[in-house]
Amino acid sequence: MRILVTGGAGFIGSHLCDRLLADGHSVIAVDNLITGNPDNIVHLLGRDDFLFIKHDVTNYIYIDGPLDAVLHFASPASPIDYLKLPIQTLKVGALGTHKALGLARAKGARFLLASTSEVYGDPLIHPQPETYWGNVNPVGPRGVYDEAKRFAEAMTMAYHRVHGVETRIVRIFNTYGPRMRLDDGRVVPNFIGQALRGQPLTVYGDGSQTRSFCYVDDLVEGVVRLLHSDEVEPVNLGNPHEMSILEFANLINRMTGNRAGVVFKPLPKDDPRVRRPDISKARRVLGWEPKVSLDEGLERAIEYFRSRVTPA
Ligand code: NAD
Ligand code: UDP
Repeated sequence: MRILVTGGAGFIGSHLCDRLLADGHSVIAVDNLITGNPDNIVHLLGRDDFLFIKHDVTNYIYIDGPLDAVLHFASPASPIDYLKLPIQTLKVGALGTHKALGLARAKGARFLLASTSEVYGDPLIHPQPETYWGNVNPVGPRGVYDEAKRFAEAMTMAYHRVHGVETRIVRIFNTYGPRMRLDDGRVVPNFIGQALRGQPLTVYGDGSQTRSFCYVDDLVEGVVRLLHSDEVEPVNLGNPHEMSILEFANLINRMTGNRAGVVFKPLPKDDPRVRRPDISKARRVLGWEPKVSLDEGLERAIEYFRSRVTPA
């Protein structure tokens, strides 16, 4: 297959490019590098089966030749990034999704949208099944991301229903691994970076809010299975192993031997109190579940960040 990945120079997008190439496909990565990093794909440049195009997908996307699939992963994804880039986030979710869907339609290609657990907002149902419609504050700071992704899902279903485009929607829960930016503000790079510098870990609020962390290879396996499946309705992918952020901080300190402990900082507005995917549908429809344990995944992430951290 000839597959286009928007956001291909980002954290998840670049792992996806690696995997699709390893599966024998030819890959075009389109990215404007607003939150991505060319280092993530530098090892792929020069291959006959890989092409990188620097382009903002909120503008018309011109691609020569046939395409079998368009995987739309372009979007700022960390709260720090989308709070800094609110309009770009809304534009890539709305205009970027429209352009990527238009491209898929024109080429007769399958389309896969990277959506998010943020469509559930600060959830009132726990864990979150795909049938839950969510609890989102549209005018809060996170609204720019949550509503962009909700719009993107609606647009994807409209292209499916009106134009018959073969579409897939993955709702991704917190995913981590090598190639996250140390300064992207998400809890995994923040905590590991702080721990490796011997600093206290910044726990927001009292740390009782929960998250569930999925290793990137597991996520990519689920995305590939979904792409090849017949499932049109959204599918959650994530790791159901839930823990509080304070427990997570203690784990990182233990694993890195950091003795600086934690410091408590204010909880950001609208920070979801709980989050855990109900993955029964992914198990049933895709035969998928995460395989990499938190310890194993964190070891790999710590190893990656170790070479990138400069001492405090
Ligand atoms: P990332 O910031 O590393 O990757 C996003 C990529 O999209 C970057 O390379 C960025 O430069 C690119 N991009 C942004 N706007 C663009 C535009 N207008 N045109 C072209 N390229 C553009 O983030 P990530 O964690 O790899 O997230 C990838 C996708 O997965 C996003 O759509 C995100 O919403 C979704 N997601 C990620 C997580 C997670 O935990 N990592 C969770 C839920 C959803
Ligand atoms: N968090 C924290 N300290 C940090 C960064 C994040 O306590 O230095 C918390 C944050 O408030 C949230 C959780 O960790 O409750 C996960 O945050 P992240 O930014 O990774 O993504 P989110 O799941 O909120 O989208």
